[in-house]
Amino acid sequence: MSKKYGRYFTRLVTLLCLLIATGTFTIYANSLHDRIAPVSVKADVMPSDQLAAKATEESTEATTTEATTESITEAPVTPTPEPEYVEPIMKEAWYNGYSDPRSVRAEIVIPDGSVTVLVNKYYTLTEDYVPDDLVNPKHAGEQKLRKEAAEAYEKMYDACKEEVGQGIYLISGYRSFSLQKTLFTRSMNKRSLAFACKRNAYQGRSEHQLGLAMDISPEGSTVISDDFGKTKVGQWVDNNCHKYGFIRRFQGQWSKETGYDNEAWHYRYVGVELATYLTEHDMSLEAYYDKCQVMP
Ligand SMILES: [Zn+2]
Repeated sequence: MSKKYGRYFTRLVTLLCLLIATGTFTIYANSLHDRIAPVSVKADVMPSDQLAAKATEESTEATTTEATTESITEAPVTPTPEPEYVEPIMKEAWYNGYSDPRSVRAEIVIPDGSVTVLVNKYYTLTEDYVPDDLVNPKHAGEQKLRKEAAEAYEKMYDACKEEVGQGIYLISGYRSFSLQKTLFTRSMNKRSLAFACKRNAYQGRSEHQLGLAMDISPEGSTVISDDFGKTKVGQWVDNNCHKYGFIRRFQGQWSKETGYDNEAWHYRYVGVELATYLTEHDMSLEAYYDKCQVMP
């Protein structure tokens, strides 16, 4: 080594010692450590900590303890949750292009409060699911909806009343699992199984249990009817509902996607953003999620 380089080396060592003595390097070394130490690496094997240990004992102790605590906190490993299913109680059955929900293996849905959740013949709620924010909106008798949907319903009522001269009426909003069971069973026994499969949701598979679906009529009527689509009120709602966050959920052209026949009276709240998107793209909720009815 030449004398010139020897001098530089001596100066470098002196400078390093000074830095260590003042503790500056400790701070730098620890901050560097924080940046580069992955959670799985122990702090005591890091070169930065060896350097830090040479600095003032008091400050080193504090920072090292901190760094160690941080370093040994391993990120929890979250396994991909296995979906739970409700197994079919009979083998695959279809009626005129509509699946029998009892023959479907339905994935269990646990709603997280989102208003865009998909529930249909293939995605089921559990028997005990009840939304925790149900309220009774105006123009709805005793019926209930989730708060956000209820507020949107009232706004839509006001706009409809102002523009058409007649409001809407909520005949059926939230329905419990057990009420839905009664309705499906009654439809199957009194009408026919084929009718129930295209018109009635099986227990657990109804959006009404979400508190986000509603069957409506013109104000003054309490009858659920296909004719709703021919009324001024029905047509206004069909054309304007997306502005309030609703979609007409079951439309004839989507019956093979949704698994249900045309329903003029059934509306679903999904929020203004998604409702507008679906309306602009003329798209069913199933197509949006790429979860259309599975044809045999
Ligand atoms: Zn309905």
